[in-house]
Amino acid sequence: MPKFVLNGEEIEFKPGQTIIEAARDYGITIPHFCWHPSLSVSGNCRVCLVEVEKMPKLVIACSTLAAEGMVVHTESERTIEARNAVMEFLLINHPLDCPICDEAGECKLQDYAYQHGVGESRFIEEKVHKDKRVLLGPYVMFDAERCISCSRCIRFCEEIAKDPELTFVQRGDRVTIVTYPGEQMDNPYSLNTTDICPVGALTNRDFRFKARVWEMSATKSICTGCSRGCNIEIWVRNNEILRLTPRYNPDVNGYWMCDHGRIDTFKFVNADDRVDGPHVRREGKLVKAGWDEAYSAAVSELKSFAKDEIAFLGSPHATCEDNFMLAKFARSVIGSKKIGFMRKEDASFGDDILRKNDVTPNTLGTEIIFDSYLKPTLNFNGILEAINNGKIKALFVMEEDLAANNSEIENILTKLDLLIICAVNFNKTTALADVVFPAAAYAEKNGTMVNFDGIIQRLKPAVATLELDRALDGMAMSRLDKFGTHYDRWAQGKKRDARSSWKIIAALASVMGQKMKYDMAEKVFEEMAASIDVFKGLDYDKIGESGTKIKFEPAAASK
Ligand code: SF4
Ligand code: SF4
Repeated sequence: MPKFVLNGEEIEFKPGQTIIEAARDYGITIPHFCWHPSLSVSGNCRVCLVEVEKMPKLVIACSTLAAEGMVVHTESERTIEARNAVMEFLLINHPLDCPICDEAGECKLQDYAYQHGVGESRFIEEKVHKDKRVLLGPYVMFDAERCISCSRCIRFCEEIAKDPELTFVQRGDRVTIVTYPGEQMDNPYSLNTTDICPVGALTNRDFRFKARVWEMSATKSICTGCSRGCNIEIWVRNNEILRLTPRYNPDVNGYWMCDHGRIDTFKFVNADDRVDGPHVRREGKLVKAGWDEAYSAAVSELKSFAKDEIAFLGSPHATCEDNFMLAKFARSVIGSKKIGFMRKEDASFGDDILRKNDVTPNTLGTEIIFDSYLKPTLNFNGILEAINNGKIKALFVMEEDLAANNSEIENILTKLDLLIICAVNFNKTTALADVVFPAAAYAEKNGTMVNFDGIIQRLKPAVATLELDRALDGMAMSRLDKFGTHYDRWAQGKKRDARSSWKIIAALASVMGQKMKYDMAEKVFEEMAASIDVFKGLDYDKIGESGTKIKFEPAAASK
């Protein structure tokens, strides 16, 4: 590999790399606003100027190719002087409204002003004033005074979202961003511009003014909006999710996520219609009950049916651990192989960027578990048919609203003698149930999911339930990372009385006389990995924060 000298050290670079890329691979970040590793180079912010020996002028590191024998200085007197000058120039017309800016705390301009600014301005004239509230699209608000004209948002729309919607107009200090005439910035990925805008010029309307970033915890997880499983961070204050942001994973989602995933996939966790505590039906009404009371009610009802009359529906919204435990309960405790799950395809959702038509996060994982562990004798449609013709009389449903927008299924479910559900929110299906167990949402538990491409990924709890709170109370801080990294942020706020579905099912098994002692999701995963070939050799540490590809034969999975 060719080499050049960076700040006195010889480093290798790949032919074709620019100085900023080679430095980054070596662990040195050269300051930049307009450069982004996934966008084309525009070279307009000039803050990445560096000194290259034998070149008469400073050069921008984002567009200058590294070359054999080159000697580059990123911290020389000339470089620092130039960087200070660029910062002073950028700040001339900047409103300096950090105290009311959502970006404060994660703003490149703010950070660089601390690191590379001279700390005072020689500009005493009136600043140029521009619009501070321009609606660019349904989700994005633009503050023109804060914009530093880096063009990242323009390039994102053109190059990543493949939908050119933005452009510069005017010149000099009047330059600003507008949408093309008659256009809105309404591409399905528009909110990524709020992440890559290096200042607070573009903000997420759904999150604006909700919290300062340092008041929140950020927990690494995955989006559950479709089978892509984009890597995300879940931002929580007082045990309430306030926003989701994408997390870099080159094998899954790059730097991006879609607006649906960001806006529509977390509010149900905060919602008032959560199932908070177990419920049993008494005199025709669902009423709150204690855990033991609900377990006993479910078990005594289940025992009154022959095993052929009982069926199970898992869920591609639930984790592998939840689905594995359901399959184990069906096989070992009831002796049934009637298990299936509802597939959800939306032909209008998928695209060539990230979004997939399968709008559930764990179809592949659920399919592999049921097919490998149980080899079901009845699938989803078969189970509905058997309920309809009276052969199945008792149904256990895990984390699925079967009756949502489907009156035919709703009618079929009314024919059941017993319906037991683990549910996150009250819904049309829980309205028909005899026992409802409160299931922890994806953001409240540990577990794994397998995306469309066979990459198994981890969920970690970002929000505490009462159960998790009790389990972690008094636990050594060194072990907390197994559960989530931000226990200190959970102390405040409402905690719901919900448990992971696998835990509810394990407790039911114990009440039925088959002890299942698992104290954490990791133990369930270990047993699953030992029982199902495609998961063999895996554990939570090996899956890590970026997931790992499993080896599976798609043909082996039922369609
Ligand atoms: S709005 Fe943000 S991303 Fe767009 S040009 Fe201005 S500073 Fe850059
Ligand atoms: S593409 Fe799918 S997984 Fe990714 S953010 Fe959108 S809905 Fe979520």
